Amino acid sequence: MLSHPGRRAALRAALRAAGLGVAGAATAALGAGCGPGRPSTGPTSPPPGPARPAGPAQPAPAAAPRRFAGQPAEIGHGPRDRDRVALTFHGNGEPALARAALTAAEKGGARVTVLAIGAWLDAHPDMARRILDGGHELGNHTQRHLAINDMTEAEAYAEITGCAQRLKRLTGSIGTWFRPSQTQCATPLVQKLAQRAGYPHVLSYDVDSLDFTSPGAAAVIRNVTGTIRPGSVVSLHFGYADTVDAMPSLLEELARRKLRAVTTTELLTP
Ligand SMILES: [Zn+2]
Repeated sequence: MLSHPGRRAALRAALRAAGLGVAGAATAALGAGCGPGRPSTGPTSPPPGPARPAGPAQPAPAAAPRRFAGQPAEIGHGPRDRDRVALTFHGNGEPALARAALTAAEKGGARVTVLAIGAWLDAHPDMARRILDGGHELGNHTQRHLAINDMTEAEAYAEITGCAQRLKRLTGSIGTWFRPSQTQCATPLVQKLAQRAGYPHVLSYDVDSLDFTSPGAAAVIRNVTGTIRPGSVVSLHFGYADTVDAMPSLLEELARRKLRAVTTTELLTP
């Protein structure tokens, strides 16, 4: 049956992957809002031949980057006076581990922010829709995850725009956030290039889970809960089993402290 949201999403992703122009109907069926669409049912049958006009059809575009008044060019955390935090993930690695981390987040009532590597989206384009369909936020973590602060201006800009183009093609938006690769903080040049590419802010973080060192789930939980406070932006990574294993207890502990794990946009929206 197509009435199940998961099945609909899977169908939509599969059809898009196949390059079929059915997104208008899928969008209408999902009630996704302002995208171009038309009802999937009507009084007449579709004519024979191509059922849709030629040309790329997209689902309603994902959210675009925003400028947050009063926030610096590089954001490391949100307001300290509200009980919200943002869990942010480096988007790379085994899709099964990424899906497991997303599912764990959803079971714990969390919405997260995924900064995807462009090459990862090339290899696993269905992950973009999986992330957005889960109510999470999707952003840009460069095309190849090289040491962007050490690159020439042209190279660094190509790393940012390469990933942006993939996001745009897959979701209709360049993604809400840009996070530099292999560094917590962007150089002023990289900040400027991110702005040129359409991202008013660079997204840093103030809590490092160190999950990429595979220290064990208990250590991941300790690393986060030892330093997290209201407004924190936590750096986590897809692709590591420890991260997946840590999620349930981590989210329980955040709930115990009355800290809500929200998207970065929610964290910063007054
Ligand atoms: Zn990374």
